[in-house]
This record gives sequence, structure tokens and C-alpha cells, in this order.
Amino acid sequence: MNDREVIDKLANARRRMIEDNLKRRGISDTAVLKAMEVIRREQFVPEAYRSQTYADCPLPIGKDQTISQPYIVALMTEELRVNSDCEVLEIGTGSGYQTAILSTLAKKVYTIETIEQLAESAKSILTKLGVSNVEFYIGDGSRGWPEEKSFDRIIVTAAVPHLPKPLCEQLAEGGLMVAPVGPAGVQELMVCKKENGNITTQMVCGVRFVKLIGEFGFAE
Ligand code: SAM
Repeated sequence: MNDREVIDKLANARRRMIEDNLKRRGISDTAVLKAMEVIRREQFVPEAYRSQTYADCPLPIGKDQTISQPYIVALMTEELRVNSDCEVLEIGTGSGYQTAILSTLAKKVYTIETIEQLAESAKSILTKLGVSNVEFYIGDGSRGWPEEKSFDRIIVTAAVPHLPKPLCEQLAEGGLMVAPVGPAGVQELMVCKKENGNITTQMVCGVRFVKLIGEFGFAE
């Protein structure tokens, strides 16, 4: 198969993913569906797993980490209700796929990854794609963005035992945070809203994420 044929085959698989795994399972936000169509997941998946790019499952990205399942990326993005005025903080850059999706919807994305090699790889992919509204930081995202700042939206893409206090503090008034909260193994996907300084939470569904290792996450 030549390069053109591979690209066409993956484009067909991407369209099927959108119909079968996203729309059919209730993802309806047209901006989110468009972002999932425009961003080519294969660019974030290691060569060895490229043929499985559009299977609805997480895939290894090295360093014992995974790129999340497409349906969960779409669901979390839909629940986050991002618009072009939003500044978004993402905890767990991983492959950079979710970051790329968010970058098409938000004014600016700030993303934190604890593993340097993953952060550098994601940065290099996004730079090659010409994405210019993302700021990267390598460190413990459970402590929040390293400078004093508040965010309209926060997305946590690794499991936390409780909502990390620094993230609750950096969430702007009226802002939304989406996070998998619970013990290692199985968590609840929570949508959290800050109103009058208080955080209210709503459960979306059960999920299974790798652990967020950090001061306000899980211990090593
Ligand atoms: N959203 C990513 C993607 O689209 O590829 C997948 C994220 S993966 C499920 C979770 C990521 O969280 C891993 O890359 C892991 O290294 C990172 N992580 C774990 N603990 C962290 C911490 N304290 N701060 C920042 N990132 C962390």
C-alpha cells in the first residue's frame, strides 16, 4: 500500500469511528465531532499500533502510559463545553492527542505532563502540525499550573483519588473541571462546577484511567 492509500484507509476508519463509536453512543456536539474528524489520531499513535488507531480502545504510547480511547476523549471534551473564549488547563499531556483536540476548540491550552519524553514528543508533533495555542509544562500537574492563574476549564486525563485542591483553586468562578475520580482500577468520571467559590460535582459514568502520580494524586 502506498502512502496515499494508507491515508485514505485511515480516513475511512476515522469516519467509521465517528459514526459507530461516537455518534451512535451519544456524542452530539458538532464542534467536538468536527475536532475528532480533523485531528488524525494516527499521528499520535506509535508506528507499531498504527493499524489499530481507530479501534475504540486505549493504546500504549511508551513509559507505561496510554493514549485514551477515542470515545472517552470525545465524551470528556463534550462534557467540558469548551468554546473559543476558554483557557483550558489539561493535566496529563500523554501523546498530545487530547491536547490537539482541545486546541481546535479553545482560545489557549496549557498542558502539564510529568514524563519529559512524552511531553517532548507531544510538543514536537503539535509543532509539526502548526498548532500555536498550546503551552507545555513538565512537572506534577496535581499541583496545578506553576504560575498564579485561573482557568475556565480543567481536564484531568489520569485518575485522581480526590479532586486535587490546587486544581479546585485554579478553576475560575463559573468554570468546569472534568476528572476521573476514585481508586486505582475503576473511577467515576466527574464534571465539577465552581459556583460562589464552591465546587459541585456530577457523575457521568464509570471509567478506567492510569493513575496520576503526584503530591495531590496517588503516591508512586
Ligand atoms: N490525554 C492523553 C492523550 O491523549 O494521549 C492521555 C493521557 S494518559 C491516560 C495519562 C497521562 O498522565 C500520562 O501521560 C501520565 O504520564 C500523565 N501523568 C501522570 N501523573 C501526572 C502528573 N502528576 N502530572 C502530569 N501528568 C501526569
